[in-house]
This record gives sequence, structure tokens and C-alpha cells, in this order.
Amino acid sequence: MSPRFGILILLVGSAAFPQTKPQPPAPTKVTYLQCGKLYDGKSDTARKNVWIRVADGKIDRLGDGIPQEAGAEVVDLSHEVCLPGLIDAHTHVLLQGDVTAEDYNVQILQYSTPYRTILGTVAAQRALGYGFTTIRDLETEGAGYADVDIKKAIDTGVIPGPRMQVSGRAMDVTGAYPVLGYSWELKWPKGVQEVDGAEGGRKAVREQISNGVDWIKVYSDRSYRVQPGGVLDDIPTFTMDELRAIVDEAHRERHKIASHASALNGVHNSVEAGVDSIEHGFYIADADLTTMVAKGIYYVPTLFVGEYVAEGRAAAGAHVWVDMVNIHAATFNRALKAGVKIAFGTDAGGFPWTVNPAKEFALEVKYGMTPAQALRSATMTAAELLGMQDKIGSLESGKFADVVAVPGDPLADVTQLEKVNFVMKDGKIYKRVE
Ligand SMILES: [Zn+2]
Repeated sequence: MSPRFGILILLVGSAAFPQTKPQPPAPTKVTYLQCGKLYDGKSDTARKNVWIRVADGKIDRLGDGIPQEAGAEVVDLSHEVCLPGLIDAHTHVLLQGDVTAEDYNVQILQYSTPYRTILGTVAAQRALGYGFTTIRDLETEGAGYADVDIKKAIDTGVIPGPRMQVSGRAMDVTGAYPVLGYSWELKWPKGVQEVDGAEGGRKAVREQISNGVDWIKVYSDRSYRVQPGGVLDDIPTFTMDELRAIVDEAHRERHKIASHASALNGVHNSVEAGVDSIEHGFYIADADLTTMVAKGIYYVPTLFVGEYVAEGRAAAGAHVWVDMVNIHAATFNRALKAGVKIAFGTDAGGFPWTVNPAKEFALEVKYGMTPAQALRSATMTAAELLGMQDKIGSLESGKFADVVAVPGDPLADVTQLEKVNFVMKDGKIYKRVE
């Protein structure tokens, strides 16, 4: 036994055995955030010179003026605008950009899952630094349930990162999802769990839930082309029988289901089957928008990634992605006018994590939202999608102390949301740029 090992035992020993004398409970640490302006996430009007009292990781109360409390820490955000922690409802921390099939295949075929998980921990840390205190991560793209592990490491304080809801492997039918196009004589890894038949769907839902996923994710369509008249057509993946069984099993087990549905048939089948959110929705027929409003199905448009990948995919031979940008913008605007609940989601990971996903806000505004609506899509509306409206999404007493700050008023200039310089999650400060 080396001497160092002996010292280690001593240290562990002194920490492991309780003191004989009872210790007084540690005093609650109180932090005040002194905000120049504040949007609470409920009202579209800013309050000026507001403080937030934070204790035990939660928002205790809000007040006006200068806080007076002996022993409390005061964080001076008097030149900043405080906001609820932002929520990105569509991310992939285990993906590091996939403009082309080659970008994707390198990650699936050349990187091990442990290496991808290391990159994923950095992506999670970046998400938090951008101001996203909560994310819904919608599948690992071939990295198994590594998202469940990243979530666990964050929740137990091993690594910094946002609060996560995760979906594990996602599902698609046999032969519909990469890695595709290589020798039929070889078996290739897949970015999804291949699932066929209604009973196969139920079994996969049970398996994924037992492995710790919060959400079930399905890919409902693929292979896009523009019909005359501007309708985006697709090949639906699952049959209605399969999709209904997956939705029914997920809901029976009190889990929600997100559907990648980019075009006509995928969206229609998904809303008929009763999924909880439509992801991407480049094209949604008016009748399906009406059904989404009636059933309370959320739309997570992911506008930025569509623009980000369009030219690269066109250069690789798929020109349809350029046409899809304009179709997407028009669909977003129709959904907004129809009163569909729109939650903020970016598909970060579909573009590199070095790019700030908050660029999505400017596109939401470009295509019809007011800055206040855009902010709400990433706060209260996204919190409702996640079923966490009682805990996050607004600055109110009793909620988790998830607070971010930006240098200027985001309702005057929504790109301020790309400049988050203060991040608090669960009452702990993770970023402060003076
Ligand atoms: Zn995605």
C-alpha cells in the first residue's frame, strides 16, 4: 500500500463518521438579485428596480427598491434586464452538427458513445451558458441512453448543465433512418430504435421508459418534395395502427410523445394519433392546425436550423431544403394566426453547439411574433409543454430560482436574448460577465 493511499483513507474516514457533538443547522444562504428591469414571464410590461430574494434554490419573493437584509449577498444587475431562465424544447446534446449525411455518419461510425457523451457534457454546459436553464433533449442519435446519464450527472451536481427532460433513442420504422446507403452485406448502426408493428411499438415504449426516458420521440416522416402549389409532401413512416399504439402506450404510462413531422402526411398522422408536440412542421395543412388547436398539441418549429442546413444540403444534392425555408416561414405565420401553442425549440446539435441557439428568437419575430410572444414561447409556453409550469417559466415566489439577465431590453430588440450575461439555476450562479 502506498503512503498516498493511507492518506486517502484518513480523509474519507474523517468525512464518513459523524461528529459526536450535534451541529447547528447551516444558516439559509440568501441572495438578492438587484435588477434594473425585470420581465416576470407573466406580464409583457417591464418592472423597474426590482429585487428577487432567492433562498434554498427558490424564488422567495420579489420587491421594489434596495434590499435591506444583514448577511445577504446582493448581485448587482442594476444595468441589466432580468428574465425567467430560458427553455429550449428541442435539443440534441449528443449531436455536434449534421448539415450533411457525412457529418452525421462520422459521429455515428467513428466516435464511441463514451466520446460522444464527453462532447455532450460540454454541449450541456454551453446550453446553460447561453441562458437555457431547462432543455428538452429529443434523442441521442445512436448514443443509446447517454442522455439519461448526462441528466443524472447534472441533477447530482457532477457537471454543470441545464435541467433536462430526455427521450433516449427515438423510434422509426425499419430502413427509414441513417446510417443508410452502404453495402447491404454489412450491418450498420442506426440513429434510432427501429420499431415495427403495433405490438413492437408498445414494447419499445415500455423498454425506453424502463431505461429512464421522460419523452417518447418518433420520426413520422421522411423524404421531402414540394408539390405544385407549394405543399411539402413526404413519405410517412409509421402506419396509423403503429402510431396510435405508440401514443396510447406512452400516454397510458403517463409519458408524453414528441413527433418529428416536417410535412403533409407526417403531421396529419401525428395529430390524428394525438401526439403532444409536432417538431419542425415545415408544412402543416390548415385543417391540421385546427386539430392542433382543438387537441392542445404544441408546435415546436425550429426555424433557425432549417436555414442553417439549407445551403449545405442543397450543395449535397437536396435542393428541396432551400425551398423548405420559405414554406416553413409561411407555415409558422399561419400557425401563429390560427392560435396554435408555439413552444421555442432550436434543434441545437443539428447545428454546432458553438452557435448560440438564441438566434431562433430573431426568426420567430421576423416571421410574425412580437418580441413578447417570442420570449413567452421560451418561458411560460415551453414550461407548459414540459408540464413544469408550476416550477419554471416565470419569476414568481415558490418557483425554482432560474434567472437570466441581458444587457438591453429584449422587447425593444429581441437579439438581446443572444447576449445573456448572467445565469442562475436552482439559486446557484453559473455565469456572471461584468
Ligand atoms: Zn431534432
